[in-house]
Amino acid sequence: MEKLYFIVGSQDLYGEECLKQVAADAAEMVSFLNEKLEGTIAVELLPTVETSAVCVQDMRKAQMDDECVGVITWMHTFSPAKMWIKGLQELRKPLLHLHTQANEKLPYATIDMDFMNLNQSAHGDREYGYILARMGVPHEVAAGFYQQNSVVEKICRFANVAKAIAQSHNTRIATFGNNMRDVAVTDGNRLECEIKYGWEVKYYGIGELADLVAAVTREELDQKMAEYAEKYTMATDNVEAVREQAKYEIGLEKFIRKYGITAFTDTFQDLHGLRQLPGIAAQNLMAKGIGFGPEGDYKISALSSVLMKMAEGRDGATGFIEDYTYDLTPGQELELASHMLEVPASFAATKPEIQVHPLGIGGKEDPARLVFDGVTGDGIQVTLIDMGDHFRIVCADIELVKQPEPMPNLPVARIMYRHKPNFEIGTAAWCYAGGAHHAVVSTALTRTDIAMFARLTGTELITIGEDTTEADLQKFFM
Ligand code: MN
Repeated sequence: MEKLYFIVGSQDLYGEECLKQVAADAAEMVSFLNEKLEGTIAVELLPTVETSAVCVQDMRKAQMDDECVGVITWMHTFSPAKMWIKGLQELRKPLLHLHTQANEKLPYATIDMDFMNLNQSAHGDREYGYILARMGVPHEVAAGFYQQNSVVEKICRFANVAKAIAQSHNTRIATFGNNMRDVAVTDGNRLECEIKYGWEVKYYGIGELADLVAAVTREELDQKMAEYAEKYTMATDNVEAVREQAKYEIGLEKFIRKYGITAFTDTFQDLHGLRQLPGIAAQNLMAKGIGFGPEGDYKISALSSVLMKMAEGRDGATGFIEDYTYDLTPGQELELASHMLEVPASFAATKPEIQVHPLGIGGKEDPARLVFDGVTGDGIQVTLIDMGDHFRIVCADIELVKQPEPMPNLPVARIMYRHKPNFEIGTAAWCYAGGAHHAVVSTALTRTDIAMFARLTGTELITIGEDTTEADLQKFFM
């Protein structure tokens, strides 16, 4: 299981007894957090930082340990921050500054100078905060008594985001074919993606996948069809088309294993050797946590894999969604978001049906796909775009709603949502911000999660929601 290291700051000025108490309080805090974060992450205490040398050792250990996804620091006493400089220079993992105390209440009747010397985070944590700011170390601050729900929740959120950032640095995207048909927003600086987020964007000719697909055995195919039959309702007589998709998924699974792939893209422009565009194959893989972006969109493919990791263990759905068409009835504006085929099965509100229909574009055989109505409730829509000299995340609060009327002639999975604060401001803000038509939608994550991710990765963030006003459109997007 992934873990966070917990590092407590003090100094050797205060004597043995004080340092013993610091270590004991820290151990109690760590055991409390382990109880609260069980199932999410483990927390492990490292030696108290009394000198620069200990700090370097602790931070090196955290940096080198593959199981460690981040570090929590807290200054129990004053800890002159020059002793943190070299240690912090060793750390390139997410950092949470826990601004807390071992005690909740001030013991007015008994407080003396010994107590003050021991419990002075108001003093030490500010000194430490200064050096983080001075060195430009990306970090998050959680302030409050460590046992308070709000503080525990923030630490838990940090754990999820830190796990997602670790996943980000292990993300390898297979792009089958390239960026499709001169689309701009799906393109960008692949090199910078790897430098900043650790995303390895690998080009593969689709021929290798086609070979794996061609080599699928009858037994493998029967097994995959049994998986589909268990999860989904077969609503087509064209079983051959479904078996064709099952072959694609088996081929993709083998490819993913062989090259350590966590996300992939395809494009209907380049399907040489495949008779259909991957539909149910991509949908079923996304539901298993494999990132996906259509039309060569490697950024959204990687982002979907990272955000699915962030959402792990929470209720709700997370995955790639594409903006398509609107209902512009005044005051009741809605968006129908879908794609040709590739809506993740995790968004299904009802048991998905396997259907086979023509695609309308691309000139290939009719692809089998999952058709369903989407889940409802509060969610976010997140995209990441390349602005030339930096990346920008745009995150909008949305409300996923039930489709108001049946759409019997639209044989794709359907997600519908309402923009916030309303259609006019919400979608105008998205357009001003340069938000893509490809995004990750999540009913499991919130704007706060994305803000933490943006802060810890040093990415520009624009948020849109109930608090966005007409005046913001003037102010932010000139
Ligand atoms: Mn598109």
